[in-house]
Amino acid sequence: MQSKAANGSKFIFVTGGVMSGLGKGVTTSSTAKLLQLAGYKVSCVKIDPYVNYDAGTMNPVAHGEVFVTDDAGECDMDIGNYERFIDTAMTKDHNITTGRVYMDVIRAEREGKYLGQCVQIIPHVTDAIKNALCKIASGEKLDIMVVECGGTVGDIESLPFLEAFRQMELELGQPNTLFIHVTLAPVLDVVGEQKTKPTQHSVQELRRIGIQPDILAVRCKTPLSNDARRKISLFASVEDKCVISCHDAPSIYKVPEVLESQGILKVIAERLGLRRSTPQWGNWKAIAESFAKYGGIVRIAVVGKYVTLPDSYVSVYHALSHAGASIGNKVEIQWIDSEKFENGDQQRLAMLKNFDGILAPGGFGKRGSEGIIGAANFARANNIPYLGICFGFQLAIVAFARHVCKLGDVNSSELEPNTKNPIVDFMPEQRNIHDLGGTMRLGAHDIAINPKTIAARVYGSNAIRRRHRHRYEFNQKYLEIVSKNGLVLSAHSDSGRRMEIIEIPNHRFYFAVQYHAEFNSRPGKPEQAFDAFVKAAAKS
Ligand code: GLN
Repeated sequence: MQSKAANGSKFIFVTGGVMSGLGKGVTTSSTAKLLQLAGYKVSCVKIDPYVNYDAGTMNPVAHGEVFVTDDAGECDMDIGNYERFIDTAMTKDHNITTGRVYMDVIRAEREGKYLGQCVQIIPHVTDAIKNALCKIASGEKLDIMVVECGGTVGDIESLPFLEAFRQMELELGQPNTLFIHVTLAPVLDVVGEQKTKPTQHSVQELRRIGIQPDILAVRCKTPLSNDARRKISLFASVEDKCVISCHDAPSIYKVPEVLESQGILKVIAERLGLRRSTPQWGNWKAIAESFAKYGGIVRIAVVGKYVTLPDSYVSVYHALSHAGASIGNKVEIQWIDSEKFENGDQQRLAMLKNFDGILAPGGFGKRGSEGIIGAANFARANNIPYLGICFGFQLAIVAFARHVCKLGDVNSSELEPNTKNPIVDFMPEQRNIHDLGGTMRLGAHDIAINPKTIAARVYGSNAIRRRHRHRYEFNQKYLEIVSKNGLVLSAHSDSGRRMEIIEIPNHRFYFAVQYHAEFNSRPGKPEQAFDAFVKAAAKS
């Protein structure tokens, strides 16, 4: 029954052992990329065993950025890696959480769909997991789906997912399923030898659950020694050629080459009975190389609220690096906590003069907001290229209204609910919403760009579609006064109800967008606003 549901798609399951943060997401994306380059229709799925329905309500400083999909999903940041590697927009279904699975199961139980049965983890929850995977694979007519399971083998919360994978292997048969286990071979300074015991133990843990890995992707600093490979092969019971060294690479986009140089596609092809096993690299190698070699450095200050964990802005980081690489430059980012500029101290703000450009990313809430307003104003007054994103768009408008239009008591009502001049205000349709999860203005919306503006030049088009995640917007009661003072509102959406881009002519580059431009950037194809910003910054 399951094999029918999968409709001929094959599944690669990626699990992780030893500890988190080993780069499972990059291994998953790189494997998918290689299969795509070999001519297969592939996609990825991220399983997050936490109980949250989605990542939308999670603190970015603890969990990293919330990645927004076209269809309004608030997803785990790994979805961003998948999109960047295989240049394919994913739907929110590609991020499965325990919360989502249980919500589906409980809803079905309430609807009486289980016909009086006692609803259990096995088979009901595991069936729901398998069905969710098969539905995507068959709906998208995938040749191969690469499924990454978050967390580390042995975690209680991932057990139902691993059990579902195990059942899928049984039901779909060996040529249709394959397991990659990502582990670590650490080196202790004193001994200098790559240690294999953590890998051995985590494979044992996986086997206890009933899964024998086909491939081990072993993270290490330098290429895995033959000794270590042999030992791992013996203890984990996988052939030598199936132990793949995932040593440090000069850029994540080089990882597909690292894996392929050890024949990973041949191994996968053999196991899954695939005919094509040679990647047609096209321009991928040149793109990957552009991140490893560079001529100059562009220094960008990112002034934001969640800088203690750079992963909170991971797509911004990648979009900047895509733009830098495309002009042969490395973008060096300094993450600056906006609270540092909170009291408007001009001397402190003067440190921003050391940068080629200033970027203000997304954010929520009052803390640190005055610092962003100060930085946005500093960039304008000192002719330093500025890119504002969402919060950085809204607060650039506040800065402009205060310092150029000389409006008093002006703010975003998010930050100062009783402000006399709420130049950024709640979107009317948000007023009666009480739930926090999934209720912002989310996902892709069409945007119309006014002709003869900087935006029209930046995008080379008068129509774009970009992703959003906000509750507040520019209040158009102030359109006349800001326009008179030289701020150009150059794009709109929802038939003119929402403003989407601001720009200041006669500035080196002062551009801010209500949408999250970072989610559309790809290696070799930087998002246009980032591209124009980094180009302007590189001219310093
Ligand atoms: N807090 C602002 C809003 O909700 C900006 C959101 C963001 O930067 N993603 O509108």
